[in-house]
Amino acid sequence: MNKNQEKQLTLSKCLDSLMVFANSHLMMHHMNKLAIISAHSNASFFLYPKRSSNENVQAVNGDESHDGKYELFERMNEDVKTEIKDLVLNSVEVEFENDSLIAGALSMSLCYIHRMEKECPVGIKLSARVLVIKAADDNPAQYMNFMNSVFTAQKQNVVIDACILESDSGLLQQACDITGGMYLKIPQPAGLLQYLLWVYLPDPVSREKLNLPPRVQVDYRAACFCHRNLIDIGYVCSVCLSIFCNFSPICSTCQTTFKIMAPPKLAKKKSKKAAG
Ligand SMILES: [Zn+2]
Ligand SMILES: [Zn+2]
Repeated sequence: MNKNQEKQLTLSKCLDSLMVFANSHLMMHHMNKLAIISAHSNASFFLYPKRSSNENVQAVNGDESHDGKYELFERMNEDVKTEIKDLVLNSVEVEFENDSLIAGALSMSLCYIHRMEKECPVGIKLSARVLVIKAADDNPAQYMNFMNSVFTAQKQNVVIDACILESDSGLLQQACDITGGMYLKIPQPAGLLQYLLWVYLPDPVSREKLNLPPRVQVDYRAACFCHRNLIDIGYVCSVCLSIFCNFSPICSTCQTTFKIMAPPKLAKKKSKKAAG
């Protein structure tokens, strides 16, 4: 193995780092909970907790010997391992595109958090956050769904953090900025675990006391609703706030018809004439 290969981040290394991070999170506090969702190019689903897993069944099985491993960690590690294996085996025939259904995965996480909040015992307040680890490119086609999820997260007081492995993501920069999370494109992907433990493990309150990487310049471009292109300047419908890259007299979202006004000078002259 040469030096370059050693420094590359493979999927198995990435998963190992993720598992250490997940275990550390659970270890931080006995009340800490965890859910892991994978966002693939054609589907998003829970890696942990498993949909089929039944707490009662697990409790019965808990009597078996686990080589001294903490049962919660072992169950989680095993679940994620088997789910990832299934995912890889099942997606052999799927055509890969370099984007993932991140908007869907984000909505799933928000639904999960909402459920947890409802199931939370009275008197205990849940403080939830979402960490997105992303290696795929942004897909402007998901802009609308993604931003809707981000504003929902903001309303639910859910902080969104982003850990970027490949190219920068304008969508996630906006998401982190809006929800007060941490956005970082890590300079050395091979050191993923260090960044996870250093930047993302502390909760937002403790982060204020740490000297973390500075905030990035946020790319606040929006995607036009007509072509899904990211644009700096465009036209906004005054009724539904849809964004368009070209002027159109009828808003394609809410069907509002816009009157094309004459330039103000002409209109003034005309009114004077009419008065005279
Ligand atoms: Zn357009
Ligand atoms: Zn409109």
